[in-house]
Amino acid sequence: MSIRVGLGYDSHRFVEGRPCILAGQHLPHDRGLAGHSDADAVAHAVTDAVLGAAGLGDIGALFPDTDAAWKDADSMRLLAMAMERVLAAGWRIGNLDCVVITERPKIGPHAAAMAAALAEVLRCAPGQIGIKGKTNETMGFTGRNEGLAVIATVLLESAA
Ligand SMILES: [Zn+2]
Repeated sequence: MSIRVGLGYDSHRFVEGRPCILAGQHLPHDRGLAGHSDADAVAHAVTDAVLGAAGLGDIGALFPDTDAAWKDADSMRLLAMAMERVLAAGWRIGNLDCVVITERPKIGPHAAAMAAALAEVLRCAPGQIGIKGKTNETMGFTGRNEGLAVIATVLLESAA
């Protein structure tokens, strides 16, 4: 069996008047995430991780933010489209692990729902997905609540 690892990173700025959507879940927060799409930083980091592991490029090449088609796009749908390519190339998810770096909102209460939503899109079991929140101990842009960042790592297995 072949295995491949992939790494994804994303960050978005907090702004007034937008929802805070992570892994397709609306998290209660006083501000949301700015971006061309729905700014779902978890979906974006995971998309880059699975594409990178499969050697299929990155999210910016597949869904350029200069293309009006992706304005306010549902990023979980973009992840599903990317995963279709990964599956078609003969890979399946071994496991995925994600860290959401933010002071607020708290991620823990939403981690199970986020994992379930990602599992559906990635065609794996929720138990193959780890989601955890970490604060940055008030340091840096996440520490100042200017935005949040996500790191995702994935292991793909050859489906054959
Ligand atoms: Zn993004």
